[in-house]
Amino acid sequence: MPRTDQPDSLPPEWEPCAPGEVARLGKRLRGRKTRRAVLRATAGTVGAALAAGGFWLALGRAEREHDYGGLTCAEVARRGAEYVAGTVPEPLRARIAEHVARCPRCAPLFEQMQRRG
Ligand SMILES: [Zn+2]
Repeated sequence: MPRTDQPDSLPPEWEPCAPGEVARLGKRLRGRKTRRAVLRATAGTVGAALAAGGFWLALGRAEREHDYGGLTCAEVARRGAEYVAGTVPEPLRARIAEHVARCPRCAPLFEQMQRRG
């Protein structure tokens, strides 16, 4: 004979909650938990963006603003040392020179680098 734990043997007073009350409470709890999780996720994303991505976010904006000689500031900065050392191959060197000549952001940086040698 199979043993069951069905509460069909319990007296009726063992059901203190009205039908639907437990489900309602559970739904409310779940809703609160979800809102907290969303808040936490949003705060985490914003915090990470501010902490680690803020610089790159600013650089990304600057890249779109300063696109001279067909090069972005990030590309110019990446080849900056080579450019100052005179080891950048010609078509690229001319483009960097054009960028630096026209870019108000890179010009002072390269002036400094070249002065330093
Ligand atoms: Zn630039």
